[in-house]
Amino acid sequence: MTSSSTDTPAPVLVLVPGAAGAPADGSAPFQLADPAVAQLSVTDLVVTRGDGIFETIGAFDGTPINVGPHLARLARSASLLELPAPDQEVIAAAVYAAIEAHADVPELTIRVMYSRGIEGEDTPTCWIDAHVSADWAPYRTGIRVASLDRGLSTTVFDESPWLLQGAKTLSYAVNMAAVREAKRRGAQDALFVATDGYVLEGPTSTLLVRRGDAFLTTPVSAGVLPGTCVNTLLAALQDEGYEAGEELMSLQDVATSDGAWLLSSTRLAAPITHLDDTELPVDLGLTARFEDLLTGRA
Ligand code: PLP
Repeated sequence: MTSSSTDTPAPVLVLVPGAAGAPADGSAPFQLADPAVAQLSVTDLVVTRGDGIFETIGAFDGTPINVGPHLARLARSASLLELPAPDQEVIAAAVYAAIEAHADVPELTIRVMYSRGIEGEDTPTCWIDAHVSADWAPYRTGIRVASLDRGLSTTVFDESPWLLQGAKTLSYAVNMAAVREAKRRGAQDALFVATDGYVLEGPTSTLLVRRGDAFLTTPVSAGVLPGTCVNTLLAALQDEGYEAGEELMSLQDVATSDGAWLLSSTRLAAPITHLDDTELPVDLGLTARFEDLLTGRA
């Protein structure tokens, strides 16, 4: 299935005023807005400092996946950044409104943005933009991945919490630079490695590794984002009787594994064909089953 369409609907912006709940005056808790018209203040701290958090939710044939877990993770990121707790109920309703504005889109990307707001006002700015997803079909058949040093150890979450590892912040310039570096190296994506030699996550994805009948991912305590997709798959695999859980793994562990994937909410499961120069086994049947489990088609 490809997500591109010749009749592409306009992107939709949903503004959630204040983001601390429905307005006391009884007015609507959010409004649809024109994304082509300027909405954000130049003094918003997300503009001047990159100070904010976000979530990216995928919707497939009009059904979003893992809305609850995404908004719970938004709340976790808010807590790590000492931002006011987002009103998950209002934001969930706004997410569904954004989807409704995009009838008949096979694959939709919905971004929930939550910034510290205008300097001095202490009121978060929250908005949602929804647009037709990029065509990720080529990623779902296999990607080359370059390992890149993240320059931080797996103890960073506990020892240096101000570095915000494991929070989904709006300061993603480093993550985007890592993808560009991976591309310079002839790969499609990157896999971050900690200074103590353990593999972490992709710049926008979670690592899943197969070793025989065990499916493993990096522990969240190592300072990676708790992935919603990996949680869905690990729970399903456990139900099927597989061993599934977290483990610190070296690059060599991944290179000698029985398969590995990068998982994310819009790309779904991208099997790794090569980690640097090492070829990995690829199971496209299992990858398709992962896709069905993630989109709820299973
Ligand atoms: N790790 C990072 C750094 C990410 O940015 C993302 C997704 O955006 C993920 C992992 C995967 O998370 P999810 O499965 O919830 O999409």
